Amino acid sequence: MRVVANLAASAGWLRLGRGVSKDELTGLPDRAALLWEIERARDADACLLVMNLRGFAELTDTLGYTTGDALTLSIVERLLPVTPGLFAHLGEATFAVLLRDAHNPQQVVAEMLEALARPVAVEGVALSVTAHFGLASFPGGATSASELVRRARVALAAAHRRSVAFAEYGPGSEAHSRDLLTLAADLGRALDDPGGCGLWVAFQPQVELNTGRVAGAEALIRWSHPSRGEVAPHEMLPVAEQTGLVPRLTDWVLEHAVAAAAEWHRAGRYITVSVNVTAGTLVDTRLPERILVVLRRHELPADRLVIEVTEDAIMVDPRRCREVLVQVRRLGVEIAIDDFGTGHSSLAQLKRIPSGELKIDRSFVMGMHDDPLDFEIVKIAAVLGKRLALRVVAEGVEDQDTYMQLAELGCTLAQGFGIGRPMPKAQFDQYLNHPPEIARRIAPNLHAA
Ligand code: C2E
Ligand code: CA
Ligand code: CA
Repeated sequence: MRVVANLAASAGWLRLGRGVSKDELTGLPDRAALLWEIERARDADACLLVMNLRGFAELTDTLGYTTGDALTLSIVERLLPVTPGLFAHLGEATFAVLLRDAHNPQQVVAEMLEALARPVAVEGVALSVTAHFGLASFPGGATSASELVRRARVALAAAHRRSVAFAEYGPGSEAHSRDLLTLAADLGRALDDPGGCGLWVAFQPQVELNTGRVAGAEALIRWSHPSRGEVAPHEMLPVAEQTGLVPRLTDWVLEHAVAAAAEWHRAGRYITVSVNVTAGTLVDTRLPERILVVLRRHELPADRLVIEVTEDAIMVDPRRCREVLVQVRRLGVEIAIDDFGTGHSSLAQLKRIPSGELKIDRSFVMGMHDDPLDFEIVKIAAVLGKRLALRVVAEGVEDQDTYMQLAELGCTLAQGFGIGRPMPKAQFDQYLNHPPEIARRIAPNLHAA
């Protein structure tokens, strides 16, 4: 089902020139052909759309490359009839459309999106696809064909970042991509620097609902950047992801979290420490070994460490993720399903993960007081946890009513701003010795460890 034959459809503009090369899978012009055509189009007011399918890499990882290829072909078939300019395939899930001034790029994007609105059937499975578009124009001052492609890709990255379908290259785009690179470079340096260059780990207390004992701490990354001020996790983590810094970041947090827990252990306190890991970390088969090395170095019993994974991270590659987590569990480390209730996993999928803890997402906990539906969801999660012998942690506890209700429902641990905000290690130690009055107003049974 090659679509080579359809190439003619996009040849209204394109009179395929000398040496034009085609992409082997789709038969569409490839990157070299696109660059050649852009050079020829420089006199016209040409512009370039680059399109990318969201989640494609995860899909091929999960369903295999044959399915990925079939999906690519189905998508090309859908798009060809609505694509007016030169339609090229740049590899994997990335396509480009070279348009003349006569075309309205936004209109073209709208038509392409409409063509993709219905799920695409591949091997009997209906797959929903989401596309992002980046646009760059020649009159904008691009000096070469490859520069035009680069600019369209910068715009595409902005569309991804902002979770919008379309973004156009403009004066601000460059500043942003430079900004991202500087931030990534700073983060890389901070991870290397023994002093951390403003990077630190905050600990948020988790209180045992039936005893009032501080039984755990969640380790959360913080960055007090020397010139930018506080950089929040949701700004830092995408930068780390886009620049391959995640494994080092995870190791950095793990090191500091385990060091803290080892100190509590030496002081005779039984406090677990929870560390968050991302989807990319979960499919890394070296993760169990990395964890083991840190535990040994700090002589921390493995049962004091909890690894938090989200449902969506598991779904990226359930099989591989399970293999890695089974190894982690074998070390004696606990596994928690984070943000429970918000993801796209099935209970069947979760059953295969060797987890001992469910963390109910804070969106339900924060709403349970006013919204009966949220209350029911928390209740069901608590029952599920109890039946499956899992620890149930409720996140986002901000007031006493919620704390009491959670205790009644039989949840194990409570965590939230009302009990304690994420804080530096030294402050956490003080908290253990003297829980502040304000926290005891929310958690009346809270006591010194
Ligand atoms: P998360 O894993 O769900 O972490 C809990 C987040 O909820 C934290 O936000 C915490 O400050 C916030 N929180 C806790 N209690 C309350 C409450 O009562 N009310 C409200 N409104 N919020 C509460 P934070 O620290 O900004 O982290 C955001 C997310 O960034 C985390 O969500 C986690 O997904 C990610 N993250 C943070 N640190 C790390 C890290 O070291 N590694 C990785 N991979 N991800 C991290
Ligand atoms: Ca978490
Ligand atoms: Ca969470």
